[in-house]
Amino acid sequence: MSFQVEGKVAVVTGGSSGIGLAAVEILVAEGAKVAWCGRDEERLNASKHYILEKFPHANIFTKACNVLKKEEVQQFAKDVKLNLGNVDMLINNAGQGRVSNFENTQDEDWMKEIELKYFSVLHPVRAFLDDLKQSANASITNVNSLLALQPEPHMIATSSARAALLNLTHSLAHEFTQYGVRVNSILLGMVESAQWKRRYETRSDLNLSWEEWTGNIAKNRGIPMQRLGRPEEPARALVFLASPLASYTTGSAIDVSGGFNKHL
Ligand code: NDP
Repeated sequence: MSFQVEGKVAVVTGGSSGIGLAAVEILVAEGAKVAWCGRDEERLNASKHYILEKFPHANIFTKACNVLKKEEVQQFAKDVKLNLGNVDMLINNAGQGRVSNFENTQDEDWMKEIELKYFSVLHPVRAFLDDLKQSANASITNVNSLLALQPEPHMIATSSARAALLNLTHSLAHEFTQYGVRVNSILLGMVESAQWKRRYETRSDLNLSWEEWTGNIAKNRGIPMQRLGRPEEPARALVFLASPLASYTTGSAIDVSGGFNKHL
């Protein structure tokens, strides 16, 4: 069964690498028109070339945009509409985590983390909501973390901001049913990313392959599936929730953590 997104317009924030790029690739392969952004122009261009090399006829639009800058996001939304048409699916993926405990998290760090987790969602939602209201299959899908339900002291600010985002996602889902806009999220465990690749390059034991090295991390952290997730795994969950296949699902969160969740 296909994701039924052919001809629909999708926006992926932070689509220039990792999970976002994997979601872009699935959407393009399924025949959707896809727009994505990131801050770094070079990374954005590389992602565009990667997609066009695989799918020369892809209907895509990319633009450098920082999701924390309201005006840039509003302009991005206008440009998306002009280039691809009215948006049907918004995937809020842009962001990163912060490793720090209470002792070494300053007030400014808290403010930054809260700003990132709230406004990386609020700015795009504001900018695209009017368009989404006009779609017959509208959805907003937020990338969130298992930290929202299972906080870790070494990521104290990210954990609590993630909990707030889960709460916010639920409220938006309920408020937006009147507009026919579904709002869901995915809860990630640990997924292979550029950050992990960089750490692998500087590993102490050069004999370890990528699979062995990441497998050891997963085992040490107690991930039951004993490996990290691959970007396409959360990306498939994202595309499912964004797609008409999830037409009766709103206010929901899919766990993509290899069984790392400790709650029922
Ligand atoms: P990557 O670093 O590979 O991708 C992050 C993407 O977001 C990049 O395209 C980056 O581009 C973009 N981005 C970051 N900040 C902004 C911004 N302010 N405005 C616009 N674009 C931005 O990370 P992942 O694919 O691993 O992560 C994707 C999401 O999943 C993130 O929100 C992350 O916090 C979350 N997550 C990831 C986990 C993991 O284990 N990998 C675990 C839990 C959550 P650029 O830097 O050029 O702007």
